[in-house]
Amino acid sequence: VTTLKYVLDTHTHTTASGHAYTTLLENIKEASEYGIKILATTDHGPKMPGASHIFHIANMKVLPREIYGVTLLRGCEANIMDFQGNLDIPDKVQQKLDIIIASLHDVCIVPGSIEENTAALIGAMKNPYVDIIGHCGNPVFPVYEEEVVKAAKENDVLIEINNSSLPVNGSRSGSLHICKKVAALCKEYGVKVTLGSDAHSCFQIGRFQDAHKLLMEIGMPQELIMNTESSKILRYLKNKGKLEDLQLD
Ligand SMILES: [Zn+2]
Ligand SMILES: [Zn+2]
Repeated sequence: VTTLKYVLDTHTHTTASGHAYTTLLENIKEASEYGIKILATTDHGPKMPGASHIFHIANMKVLPREIYGVTLLRGCEANIMDFQGNLDIPDKVQQKLDIIIASLHDVCIVPGSIEENTAALIGAMKNPYVDIIGHCGNPVFPVYEEEVVKAAKENDVLIEINNSSLPVNGSRSGSLHICKKVAALCKEYGVKVTLGSDAHSCFQIGRFQDAHKLLMEIGMPQELIMNTESSKILRYLKNKGKLEDLQLD
């Protein structure tokens, strides 16, 4: 399979992140025009320098479920703050969100040893509100990839293949070969992956060229890719007790 249609983007930022450049409405409009049916809006958690106050993430109930024909998932990219995997989002706010990405960022936590970084990701995955581990192929935070993938399987957490990590001049250079290794391990263990553009402007929404290429190179089975049908992510989140307002067939 060389052509897959992707209808889901699980990782996007708005101006509320502080270092992103388009609004939520601009992102959704672009998603609608680009063929994305489900858009997760996932601004950075409050400990990211320049990010919004926690109230921004806590108040997303005011947003309609569907805008311009796109189903909106109210989410955030939480910062993992310690090697136990604790997040910068209070539990009562985590409970309100549709989708949570947990990520390590070196402006929020100083990278630890390979054991510590691995423990941070595994700790975050044990949190039942965490759905996705973000950009775990970042060489700034080396981890034992196989342990991370096995923990994703045990805890039913999705591993993100972050499109912006992969280009030579991308956001986290040196990620490509690690992401490829992680993806191959996901294939081996039957762990589901989700493609995230990590858009910091609407012009990246739904763009997965590099991630797609990587998945094709390792021969990832379509059933392990969450982005190929709308129902996959909706069922996944409903099974975790989220999206109670949505009816599925
Ligand atoms: Zn960012
Ligand atoms: Zn990130």
